[in-house]
Amino acid sequence: MKRALVTGWAGFIGSHLTEALVAQGIEVVGVDCAPPRFGEITSLTSNSLFHAVALDLSCDRLDEVMSGCDVVFHLAARPGVRASWGGDFDAYVTANITSTQRLLECCWRQRIPRVVLASSSSVYGATIGPSCEDDDCRPISPYGVTKLASEQLALAYARRTDSPLSVVALRYFTAYGPRQRPDMVLGRLLFGALSGMPVTLFGDGTQRRDFTYVSDVVAATIAAAELDCREEVINVGGGASVSLIEAIGVVSRVLGVPIPLDAAEAQPGDVPVTSADLQTAHELLGYEPTVSLADGLARQADWLRSLDPVRLNVYGLDLAGSRR
Ligand code: NAD
Repeated sequence: MKRALVTGWAGFIGSHLTEALVAQGIEVVGVDCAPPRFGEITSLTSNSLFHAVALDLSCDRLDEVMSGCDVVFHLAARPGVRASWGGDFDAYVTANITSTQRLLECCWRQRIPRVVLASSSSVYGATIGPSCEDDDCRPISPYGVTKLASEQLALAYARRTDSPLSVVALRYFTAYGPRQRPDMVLGRLLFGALSGMPVTLFGDGTQRRDFTYVSDVVAATIAAAELDCREEVINVGGGASVSLIEAIGVVSRVLGVPIPLDAAEAQPGDVPVTSADLQTAHELLGYEPTVSLADGLARQADWLRSLDPVRLNVYGLDLAGSRR
């Protein structure tokens, strides 16, 4: 890998992936339709190996930016389960399906050998135990349906016999860490603990999540670029499934303060359990999660504390006088 394209570079996982690639001496063309939500990422903007291009994958020309790339990491998407119900569904289709199809067409035209695509544990639906890649996929949210469609689209392109394109679809399980999207639960819990502002807890807290620290997600994603295969689907999880009640306890212990909670109804589309079977990731990528929930949360808390109040407003709250 000499030159990589990262779609969604300005997002949570994309920004960490881009930093890791550049740190390994790989030239990165980062495309995104929006700037980073927590402000400029100086490690990237000051690095001559990194080139940011503002474009929308659903409508802009892609051939020029992709030219000369030997790997495409496709992370751009419209994430989030709850908002995918109702009137915004068109936006999910455009960002997650139409954009992926346009990108894949361009990869085919440019004879790109490898696409690594960010899929999601949401494709599995309502499971009760560890999910294997061969399990039936029965998503229970419109978001999960669009992620399954984008994953399957990419695999269809890998099956074309008239191109060298190969695809690794990685099913990420709830990533967390610095720059995590502000709609995600661990960031909201940390923010609640630091600010004293109540955190809305959807459901009774027994729902379990396989939380995965972002540097582990990035390590698996980079390893997937080099995997010798035509098509693979691989889970990327954190190694343990933890209930939200347990996660609240860990956040509270890490920060040494209680977390004020507001109870709310369970949300449609929120699965009861996510849990990754990691055997394929271990065998094919040599993947092992390395960061415990307590360590990862401590790092995310340090990052949150370092943000200025203007940046913290992405959590939708006026922090004046309320930050501990
Ligand atoms: P994010 O919202 O932080 O990043 C996504 C980025 O994609 C954003 O910067 C956004 O501007 C960009 N984007 C969206 N539509 C675009 C378009 N049409 N053209 C160009 N750029 C566009 O999300 P994230 O949490 O970093 O997720 C990254 C990927 O991983 C997504 O594909 C998501 O579905 C997948 N995923 C994430 C998680 C998680 O826990 N964060 C879990 C499973 C899967």
